[in-house]
Amino acid sequence: MSARMLDGRTLSKEIRASLFERSLRIKNNGRAPGLAVILVGNDPASKVYVRNKSKACDECGVMSKVFLFPKTVSEHELVELIEELNASNEIDGILVQLPLPEHVNMRNIIGCISASKDVDGFHLYNVGGLVVGGTIFPPCTPYGVQLLLETAKIEVSGKNVVIVGASNIVGKPMALMLLQKGATVSICHIKTNDLSLYTRLADILIVAAGKPGLITADMVKNDVVVIDVGINRMPDGSITGDVDFDNVKHKASWITPVPGGVGPMTVTMLIENTIKAAELRMSINNLEVTKWSNKIRCKDYPNYLVKFDMPTVIIAGTENEVKECYEVYRQLRPALTRKSFTEQILRQMKSDNYKIACIKKDGKVVACAGFRILETLSWGKALYIDDLITDEMSRNRGHASHLITWLQEEAKRLSCKQLHLDSGFARINAHRFYQNSGFHIRSLHFSKEL
Ligand code: NAD
Repeated sequence: MSARMLDGRTLSKEIRASLFERSLRIKNNGRAPGLAVILVGNDPASKVYVRNKSKACDECGVMSKVFLFPKTVSEHELVELIEELNASNEIDGILVQLPLPEHVNMRNIIGCISASKDVDGFHLYNVGGLVVGGTIFPPCTPYGVQLLLETAKIEVSGKNVVIVGASNIVGKPMALMLLQKGATVSICHIKTNDLSLYTRLADILIVAAGKPGLITADMVKNDVVVIDVGINRMPDGSITGDVDFDNVKHKASWITPVPGGVGPMTVTMLIENTIKAAELRMSINNLEVTKWSNKIRCKDYPNYLVKFDMPTVIIAGTENEVKECYEVYRQLRPALTRKSFTEQILRQMKSDNYKIACIKKDGKVVACAGFRILETLSWGKALYIDDLITDEMSRNRGHASHLITWLQEEAKRLSCKQLHLDSGFARINAHRFYQNSGFHIRSLHFSKEL
């Protein structure tokens, strides 16, 4: 028996073709996605990696800029450049090629990269996202491994996954990602006693130790899936992994070759993260809610523009006003129960910076929207509309647009960079209305109706 190949080179080619399309779409909206790579010193392996990354950028229509520094560079100089790149409108992703010289504190440097440009996924914000299950930019190597497994339809849930190597860039994030997918994960490292005790239990074995020939055929069980992350340059100049490929392949069901397995995937996922960063930035920059007009088309008389006198919007301040808002909510959302709603709102208003903007007409609340101000790491300050209660009537009468315009002005007044709202899946008319009001629908928010 010989294992099937997990061919990272072919898969990368396919992904890169689709990345090119995405990057073109971004370019058509203004400019190509941009990646900045910072390289310190003369390490030949690092130079090769950086060259590969630049080549992959070209292939995918991503603009890349390499910043070269001698190994005597000070931490301060690097921080200055990173801050400049954080603020640059041309750069969506920033990568610092590791390792850095000893006198430079790697954690400080990575910590300076804006979390929204951290396409390597090493910033603490993104690492934290991995722990709780949801990160903007997954670290590239584990991300690539995960995609290789998914593409080959190799089930991870319920499987014994053994990872050899516990580094911050491969072993640990890999473990967190697969744990999230329901695997039982063991992480082995240099201090593990009797490595083979663990590797023999593995349904999926992922090796990232940097030790050629570390995993031999007697250390794995039949039908194991083997992912060899190791890249070792041999004295004759050839590249080999950590696994004794020629012998292990006869026991494994799947195996990655080295080269041509994980390596190309790592670079491809870097480009994917960069394009994702550009897409996120683009959707923010394009967010211009259409200016409120008090002339709107009435649904029943589409050829007529109807003019409305718009009453002012106020913030519900008293308990009575909140109760009135509740009445509006209740008419439009019969499922709400009075007790839970008013109590929840009043509690939120006290503790959680929650406010309700409402339109009062003839002394009565006729439309309202709950909102709060959030500090988001990736987009900065945002006004988040919790409950924009609209129905056909409030939309046709212009109340909903009026509220959105008011909220937009309020967001600007408070120096917010973005207006946000969530909506249910099935509310197609509402979605159309939001789009007509200038909202971009992004696929970052998922929900499932049970
Ligand atoms: P690292 O040196 O930071 O970590 C190596 C880990 O392996 C450590 O946790 C160490 O305890 C463990 N280890 C070392 N010898 C061991 C042994 N004999 N038994 C058990 N555990 C052992 O390395 P890293 O940056 O994680 O990289 C690991 C390997 O993966 C290297 O060969 C590197 O070149 C390669 N790599 C490849 C890619 C890729 O894209 N394919 C990306 C990153 C790293």
